Amino acid sequence: MQLLVQGIPTDHADHLRRGGLDANHQPPVRTVAEGGRNPCRHCLGLIAPGEPMLVLAYRPFAAAQPYAEIGPVFVHADACPRYRDAALPAWFAHLTPALIRGYDARDWIVYPTGAVVAGPELADRARTILGDPAVAYVHVRSQFNCYQARIERG
Ligand SMILES: [Zn+2]
Repeated sequence: MQLLVQGIPTDHADHLRRGGLDANHQPPVRTVAEGGRNPCRHCLGLIAPGEPMLVLAYRPFAAAQPYAEIGPVFVHADACPRYRDAALPAWFAHLTPALIRGYDARDWIVYPTGAVVAGPELADRARTILGDPAVAYVHVRSQFNCYQARIERG
């Protein structure tokens, strides 16, 4: 099965860069990346130390509903290209352990799909989860439950 791995929508990244409010109705915090583990959820690249970035609360669902978790993410403060690719970014191999789970068309968790896996297993596990017709898409999260990316059928 072909995958489609996506960063957050560009219109939302642009909204945040213009100072638009985040999922907690706060303006994004502008800061500078420290260390090498600050993934931008738009381009799915690592923000280089010293680069300006935004820290904000993100809800990776179109609408508020019981399963719509909100959590912290980073985004490059300056424009970057949205990630849309059949492969996961190479650095996802270091997301170990990672959380992965499927959601249905209502944006509710499909509970049997939830798993804690090593980063190199994410693509195969996503294919398995998306093989379930009840699943509309998959979310990948870090061990800290921070949202990383959305995976759909390609
Ligand atoms: Zn970026």
